[in-house]
Amino acid sequence: MTNPTTQAQEPPVLEVRDLDVLYALAGGQQMRAVDRLSFDIARGETLALVGESGCGKSSVAKAVMQLSPTAGGAIRLEGQAFANLTANALKRLRRRFQMIFQDPISSLNPQRTVREILEFPLRVNGRFDKTGSARRIRETLDIVGLDSQNVLERYPHEFSGGQCQRISIARALILEPVLLVCDEPVSALDVSVRAQVLNVLNDLRRRLGLSMLFISHDLAVVRNVADRVAVMYLGRICEIGTARDVLDRPAHPYTAALLSAVPRADPAAQTRRIALQGEMPSPMSLPTGCRFRTRCPGAQAACAAAEPPLASLADGRQVACHFPFSVAVPSADATASFEPEEIAS
Ligand code: SF4
Repeated sequence: MTNPTTQAQEPPVLEVRDLDVLYALAGGQQMRAVDRLSFDIARGETLALVGESGCGKSSVAKAVMQLSPTAGGAIRLEGQAFANLTANALKRLRRRFQMIFQDPISSLNPQRTVREILEFPLRVNGRFDKTGSARRIRETLDIVGLDSQNVLERYPHEFSGGQCQRISIARALILEPVLLVCDEPVSALDVSVRAQVLNVLNDLRRRLGLSMLFISHDLAVVRNVADRVAVMYLGRICEIGTARDVLDRPAHPYTAALLSAVPRADPAAQTRRIALQGEMPSPMSLPTGCRFRTRCPGAQAACAAAEPPLASLADGRQVACHFPFSVAVPSADATASFEPEEIAS
């Protein structure tokens, strides 16, 4: 894993500042899916964005990829702001940031061979020449662990899901990007091939110095790839820090609850499960104060009065909670109400 402390001294590859994403609803209403969200990704760093379905993490991915309009804030890639770019300027910049999708099979054109799939981005970006492109395709397939002699003239349906995801990764790499946005890249794969694809992604970061925004709901997967982790709840980051800090010593009650639901191979390392009350509220009717308070087992009166800002703790992570675990010990009453329940055997 890279050292985020060292990287923080270098200009970030990706800067997201006060990002807002709104969706128009029937009747002229608007739903705020992402609410003033900010983060950076350094060169060679993987930031995992995690949270339950509906928290807004895929909306962040689409906004970064410029696949959906933003309602406010700024996104910069290597210092270049996306706002007000012409279509041609965005097309030139787009080769520097590429996406890997959740379903590798449906993301590949079934009527094209692997050679045609990998040639297509080169042609669209005016970078195709017969000899150089053939060499580049062979090299890229080699990077993702596929033998070009065996795969180039075959079609996507002839490959397994894991092989298709390797082809998708090769397609993303062919234009030599600096940033990969990976949207649940292994959640559609069998458990047996997930580790292979995660190893490919980790290898890319080491060999090519790629930066990655890794979207996932699976904290066990995130533990294998992330340098830093940002936990999202209802459109905002509630905790962000190094993977070790956030995953081993969560400071926000929501992070602790998510982690308690992850099965551990070692039963002795399994923490007690923290049961969250009810469903995530609608973004159309947020609770007053802390937006997590309706489900938080440690909520106190102060939590309804004011929304906690994302504030730094002594170890460098940032947490949006009036009573983060590593700073303030909840009162005896709050501790009692926060006692997690036993995991059912
Ligand atoms: S501010 Fe209060 S309700 Fe919100 S997460 Fe912290 S303890 Fe829970």
